[in-house]
Amino acid sequence: MKKIYYDKKLAEKDKIIDMYKSELELLKKELDYYKKISCTDSLTKLNNRRAIKNVDEYDSIVLGDIDYFKKINDKYGHDLGDKVLIEISDILKKYTRNTDLVCRWGGEEFVIFLKNCDDEMAYDKALTLKNAVSKLSDKFGFTITMSFGVSNLLGKTMQNALKEADEAMYKSKENGRNRVTVYSLNL
Ligand code: GH3
Ligand code: MG
Ligand code: MG
Repeated sequence: MKKIYYDKKLAEKDKIIDMYKSELELLKKELDYYKKISCTDSLTKLNNRRAIKNVDEYDSIVLGDIDYFKKINDKYGHDLGDKVLIEISDILKKYTRNTDLVCRWGGEEFVIFLKNCDDEMAYDKALTLKNAVSKLSDKFGFTITMSFGVSNLLGKTMQNALKEADEAMYKSKENGRNRVTVYSLNL
């Protein structure tokens, strides 16, 4: 009699444990979902800055900024500007590897963290992206270009490497836009 009573109690306990386990699973899934959207740019679906956690595993940074984007917005409207941002994001994803991290850094600026590459390979990658973006001009019927700056992360903080890539990108702007500049001390 006592055994039946205790077996019943144990079964009830197991049921409660199972219930909490499945609730915990649901909460974990929900947490993963919110973690993912908090790291994702809602317009382009690229990573945002929050997605950057450990940059030690990356070697190079490619920073790209759309040329005269304000003019595109002013002339063709903000909605079309958004479409340009989406198409450019798709190109950046298409021409990079799954192991690279492509981020919308803000506004019309993008940063790509590249793995297993040196300055020359990062330059080649940025050149490929620059050329692919400029081909969008035919699709949209107006000029779309980007200026790029390249730097490496070797022995530097992310902030310093980004500063260098930014400096190099501004050199690309100064030199006529639609080009790639690799950071060097004598820029
Ligand atoms: P530069 O070649 O020197 O980079 O010129 P620019 O016009 O691209 O640079 P500027 O900083 O003057 O303008 C950036 C513009 O990007 C202004 C802003 O309205 C636009 N922008 C930023 N975020 C978005 C967005 O989410 N959607 C759209 N459509 N426009 C955006
Ligand atoms: Mg900008
Ligand atoms: Mg710009």
